[in-house]
Amino acid sequence: MTIFETDKLASDTELVRRYLDNAQPSADLTAADTERVIDRIKQLLQTRRAKLVAHYYVAAELQELAEATGGFVGDSLEMARFGRDADADILVVAGVRFMGESAKILSPDKRVLMPTLEATCSLDIACPIDRFAPFCDAHPDHTVVVYANTSAAVKARADWVVTSSIALDVVEYLMEQGEQIIWAPDKHLGNYIKNTTGADMLLWDAACVVHEEFKARGLLDMRALYPDAAVLAHPESPEAVLAIADVIGSTTQIIKAAMQLPNRDIIVATDKGIFHKLQQLAPGKNFIVAPTAGNDATCRSCAHCPWMGMNSLQRLLLSLERLDNEIRVDAGIAERAMVPLQRMLDFAAQNQLKVRGKA
Ligand code: SF4
Repeated sequence: MTIFETDKLASDTELVRRYLDNAQPSADLTAADTERVIDRIKQLLQTRRAKLVAHYYVAAELQELAEATGGFVGDSLEMARFGRDADADILVVAGVRFMGESAKILSPDKRVLMPTLEATCSLDIACPIDRFAPFCDAHPDHTVVVYANTSAAVKARADWVVTSSIALDVVEYLMEQGEQIIWAPDKHLGNYIKNTTGADMLLWDAACVVHEEFKARGLLDMRALYPDAAVLAHPESPEAVLAIADVIGSTTQIIKAAMQLPNRDIIVATDKGIFHKLQQLAPGKNFIVAPTAGNDATCRSCAHCPWMGMNSLQRLLLSLERLDNEIRVDAGIAERAMVPLQRMLDFAAQNQLKVRGKA
C-alpha cells in the first residue's frame, strides 16, 4: 500500500506533504540542530556561489537566511529581477515552482534549484497548456495576458506576463491601445482589474486556494471588533472581500501601505507568511489575519499556502548538498516565454507603479 492509499480522508496537499516528509524527513529541529543546519547552508551558499531568493510567504527562518547571506526576499516580480541581476552561479528559489521556472527563463546560464520541486500553485494547476492554448486559438483577436503564477508553457503562449504588482497598469495600458484581452488564470484578480479599468477581458476560471478562503462576513465582524483598523487585501481575494478593503495591492504594495498608514490595527487578507516582514518593518503595529472559511465551515484553511509551506531549512540544505531539485525548462519554451516576461520587466522599468485603494 502506498502512502497515498493509507488515508482517503486527507487532503491532496496534506498527502503530498506526508509523501515529502517520508522522502525527505523534516522532523522538528532542536535549536542546536537549526543552528547547525543554518551554518552549513551559509557555507554551501558561499562555496557554491549561490544566492537564496525567497518569497514573502515562506517560513520566517528562510526569509532571514536569504537576507543574512546577501540573497533576497520579495514578491515574484522582485524575485525575478534580483535573480536575473545576481552575481551568482546558482539561484536557490524558496517559493513555488513557477517562481523557479521564471528565474531559469530569465537566467538561462545559472543553475536554479528549489528546496522541493513539489511546491506548486492552484492557479498553475488549473491552467494547463493543453486547455489554455486552444482557448487562445479560439480568440485570435485577443491579446493574451497571463499571471506569473503559470507554467513556462503557458507563459510561452502569452503576449504579456504580469505579476499582481503590475497587472492593473499593464491592462490599463493595453486598454488605451484598444486591445481586447484574454486574462488567465486568477478569476478574482481578473475580475478586479476588469471592474477597475472597464477593459474588455475574457477571464479564465481559476483561483488561489489561500485567498479564496477569505470571507467578507467574517471580515465585517472583525472590523466591528477593531473599528479603527485598516483592511489591506490582496486582489486574489474574492470581490466581496475587496469591496471592504481600504487598500488593495500585491504583497509589496501591502507592506508599503502598512508602513505608511496611520492606523495601529491592520487586518491583512493575504498569506500570513507576510506577517514576518510586516512586523519587521512596522514593529509598533498590530497585524491581524483576516478570517477564513466562515464560522460553520470544516476549516482546513489557515491563510497559509500549503505549497509555500513545503519549503524548509532541511530541504534547502539537501538541495544545496546534492545539487538536486534543479529546475529545467525546455529551451524552445524558455525562449518564447522570455518575450512576455521581458516585456513585463521593461514595462515595470519604464513606469512608476501605484498602490490602489480607497485609503
Ligand atoms: S498563495 Fe495562492 S497564488 Fe500563491 S502560490 Fe499559493 S496557491 Fe498559488
